[in-house]
Amino acid sequence: MTALRPYGCREDPASPLGPLAPDLTRATTFAYRSAEELRAVGAGELAGEFYPRYGHPAGRLFEQKVAELEGADGAVSFGSGMAALHGVFCGLLQQGDVVAVSRYVYGGVEAILAEDLPRFGIEVRRFDPFDESSLERAVEGTVRLIHVETPTNPLCRVVDLKRIAAAARRYGAWLSVDATFLPPPFQRPITHGADLVMHSATKILGGHSDAQAGIVSSRHELLERLEAFRRRTGGVLAPDIAWLLVRSLATLDLRTRKATETASRAAHFLEELRGHGGKVARVYYPGLPRHADHHVAREYMQTFGFVLAFEVAGGLPEAVEVYNRLRVIARAVSLGGVETLASIPLHTSHAAMSSDERQRVGIADGLIRLSFGIEPYEVLEADLAAALSA
Ligand code: PLP
Repeated sequence: MTALRPYGCREDPASPLGPLAPDLTRATTFAYRSAEELRAVGAGELAGEFYPRYGHPAGRLFEQKVAELEGADGAVSFGSGMAALHGVFCGLLQQGDVVAVSRYVYGGVEAILAEDLPRFGIEVRRFDPFDESSLERAVEGTVRLIHVETPTNPLCRVVDLKRIAAAARRYGAWLSVDATFLPPPFQRPITHGADLVMHSATKILGGHSDAQAGIVSSRHELLERLEAFRRRTGGVLAPDIAWLLVRSLATLDLRTRKATETASRAAHFLEELRGHGGKVARVYYPGLPRHADHHVAREYMQTFGFVLAFEVAGGLPEAVEVYNRLRVIARAVSLGGVETLASIPLHTSHAAMSSDERQRVGIADGLIRLSFGIEPYEVLEADLAAALSA
């Protein structure tokens, strides 16, 4: 028997054989014939399951499937998106290292940058990925890691990854990309020079609002470090969750196509309302020619995504009224599920940000973010029209 890799690797497709849904083992320990056999499995010299924190079959299957979609050597999965980002930052960096992080990242990342990395002697520098000189200033000297999110939350800005990857190479830094807002194969950052691509699998990879997980795809050299860090720190995802995620991946393409088609139709509908005055002041969707990054999006995204944001004229009080009138679209945080969700970033994802910083990154108080699911389009358009016309 050859040894198992402790994480899932890309494999050549083989014709299906046996059960077409994977088995699930919840076992946390496995019996072997002899001391030598158990020792060899534990040491990674013999194939076999040892202990789920060292990897488990459902987790490796999920990792293998995501790695295939990303075009990566393999992937390491974690118990949440934040655990995956913790793996990238703390599993790959050390005291004295510098990390340059985009100003447009998820609030949970802001917290880890402010509260945790400095405690471990990791210097954090911020940059604006939409301003070339800003990145050059941030990476001056030595920088170990550059981290960006694309498309961004909630304005769906799209980062020119080739430019950032070229800078990362010039400075000898790794580039890590949080691609949660558009899954593979609809965007594949590794093909544009990223070293690591991560997802909160809680979002569209899982897609049914019932599983929390994170995953990082990369090449073996970095995956080995991430897996070893996961084994030491225990951030592995549970087998049941991995099994649900494998189930979800079977419909990822279908769900994403349906949700992005709906998002695109809704964006054009809202844009038309904006043109006629009324309650819609601005629409942010990369598929709209007016969007700041429409041309960049055409290069990096196969579809323009399942998320959009729109600004309600009259600011927060009007936005709250529109929001509270929604009847089909759920008022909820998160994104990427089969059901369409609406959130007010000021109250949710960006509540911890100062109002100056929110203004700096262009997040208006009256902004509503929509994450589209797979309901019939007409039902959603009618819900939006009713909420906006009252
Ligand atoms: N990255 C992005 C872009 C997110 O939106 C989120 C969560 O909303 C995360 C990372 C963190 O993922 P999780 O909530 O699964 O820890």
